[in-house]
Amino acid sequence: MSQSNPRAYNFNAGPSALPLEVLEKAQQELVNFQGSGMSIMEMSHRGAIFEAVHNEAISRLRKLYAIPDNYEVLFLQGGASLQFTMIPMNFLQVGKKASYIMTGVWSEKAYKEAKLFGEPVQIASTKENKYRNVPSLEELDVYSDDAYVHITSNNTIYGTQWSEFPDTGEVPLIADMSSDIMSKPVDVSKFAMVYAGAQKNLGPSGVTVVIIRKDFLAMANKDIPTILKYTTHAESNSLYNTPPTFGIYMLGEVLKWMEDQGGLTEIAKQNEEKAKLIYDVIDNSHGFYTGHASKGSRSLMNITFRVADEELEKQFLSEAKDAGFVGLNGHRSVGGCRASTYNSVPYDTCKALSDFMIAFQTKHQ
Ligand code: PMP
Repeated sequence: MSQSNPRAYNFNAGPSALPLEVLEKAQQELVNFQGSGMSIMEMSHRGAIFEAVHNEAISRLRKLYAIPDNYEVLFLQGGASLQFTMIPMNFLQVGKKASYIMTGVWSEKAYKEAKLFGEPVQIASTKENKYRNVPSLEELDVYSDDAYVHITSNNTIYGTQWSEFPDTGEVPLIADMSSDIMSKPVDVSKFAMVYAGAQKNLGPSGVTVVIIRKDFLAMANKDIPTILKYTTHAESNSLYNTPPTFGIYMLGEVLKWMEDQGGLTEIAKQNEEKAKLIYDVIDNSHGFYTGHASKGSRSLMNITFRVADEELEKQFLSEAKDAGFVGLNGHRSVGGCRASTYNSVPYDTCKALSDFMIAFQTKHQ
């Protein structure tokens, strides 16, 4: 942050940085949306103006992520955490098994909820290796009569990410993509369901995006509460009850910004370049900085690292704070440092961090 640029170097893990252009547009439109004399927050979710915003956000998401027609796109509430519960509630029956691949705290939370409804099985876990990696595809053994296989595509706390997804054959594959959704092109047709809280790559908190294949949806349990059924939301175009209207509007604007960037291929390229700036400093530091994730499992979204010793690490975080960097403390459960470099974090912000890390090492080595 400087006098000429009041924006922080924001590396928050979520909610996290949003594109400045989107914030400025929202600011301009805040009190009088499209000449209506009202804010988007002040109008009915059943009115024509909001409905157009809502439908445009869905069609932008479909187009940008190349979502096939046999999938529904839903905007739900309750965060990714509610999905941990809704998935087994909808798709797991008593006596039926579902496979969970354990790559961190978020997989553990998803697994715990599934136990309430059926028999989740951990078919792979990297816990013994302090979740430094995701399992290799060869290690995975999927049972053909499982209700589904659940993975976490990017592990926000440990800084690991799947670069290739398991092939589960006929068994539906479900991915929690909360921290890397739309950070790169993905073949959505490999998944029966993808879900993500919006608050990292897609917009403010309050909206959860669910992408779900129609034939999978048709298999959902019927004897569960109305609001917790995916079919309820699919049948009402995610307007069963009052949706988070401002969040959906912002999500639509972030998607438009992503289109303006050149789409997901371009965004993926930018994300690689940004992460490389920081990983290169770690790799060239001769052990002054050490990455938490094994190289083959490194995340392009959350870069986790330690500084040579504990005192220096405290000093690093304190000097970084004074220099205008925000959000560099590791998750409270693991400590250390973490730089979250989501889609909307500018290249210059990542360059500022890599320069700061080099200068800090030079000064303190
Ligand atoms: N899954 C992952 C991978 C996450 O990073 C998070 C939040 N950081 C969650 C799930 C939980 O999301 P929410 O807070 O939206 O419930």
